[in-house]
Amino acid sequence: MPNFNNKVCLITGAARGIGAGIAARFAEAKYQIVIADLRLTDAAETAKKIADKYQVKAIGLAMDVSHEGEVADGFATITKEFGRVDVVVNNAGLQIISSFEDFKTDDWKKVIDTHLNGSFFVSRAAMQMMKTGAGGSIIFMGSVHSVEASAKKSAYITAKHAMLGMTRAIAKEGAKYNIRANLVSPGFVKTELTLKQIPEQAKNLKISEKEVVENIMLGQTVDKEFTTIEDVAEVVFFFANFPSNALTGQSLIISHGWHMQ
Ligand code: NAD
Repeated sequence: MPNFNNKVCLITGAARGIGAGIAARFAEAKYQIVIADLRLTDAAETAKKIADKYQVKAIGLAMDVSHEGEVADGFATITKEFGRVDVVVNNAGLQIISSFEDFKTDDWKKVIDTHLNGSFFVSRAAMQMMKTGAGGSIIFMGSVHSVEASAKKSAYITAKHAMLGMTRAIAKEGAKYNIRANLVSPGFVKTELTLKQIPEQAKNLKISEKEVVENIMLGQTVDKEFTTIEDVAEVVFFFANFPSNALTGQSLIISHGWHMQ
């Protein structure tokens, strides 16, 4: 097993859900961990749990990824606390359900700002730091909605498709600094983001919650099963630690066969 002892992994939106699972996977391998999220108390609480469980240094940061200044402040703290960053996971995200023609401008901007402009601010800062060191790995949290569309999720689908473009652009430009970029694209995972959508979709589509789960969320899978947080964390870990540019600018779908490519 390689020694990841002094390496540092930053995960955005990691106070809970998939991000917290990714943080645990890297901490298990003895990475030092930075949990960034909207509220410092939530980020610090998750960081403490990880530090206690895995006996690694883990800190929490208040970082709204859509605010350029907060991202800059976060990276200044990382420089001060660790002096390096090896893996950055652009995981912060949210879903807002609406038909396209009724999408509110503020809601549209919030989804795009978080997923896309947030990933830009974070990845740009990461590249600037990584290029002065040994390079690194930038992972994007895409979705099956990076390659498929569903009703009532247009802003999210637009942002997640564009993340694939950002992944490929960074892969091209990052190679000379030993920086790789890859996209991980899960199907439905049972987190707050998903659980919140079940009643919303039922109301919007005028069907039962059971039908939302069985027909909308898992209808196209080969086995009607949710993807797990651990499945996603494992793929992120694999991409982040792959030792050559053989895997850069790639996208891997983790969806129980919902989307096959
Ligand atoms: P979640 O709602 O459980 O967690 C999202 C986290 O992101 C929260 O802690 C939230 O506070 C944080 N966050 C939101 N906006 C932020 C911002 N501007 N700056 C910093 N943090 C912010 O959701 P999750 O399911 O764990 O989702 C994590 C990522 O996985 C998202 O990018 C989501 O699009 C993606 N994803 C989720 C699923 C799924 O089924 N759950 C499927 C595919 C992709």
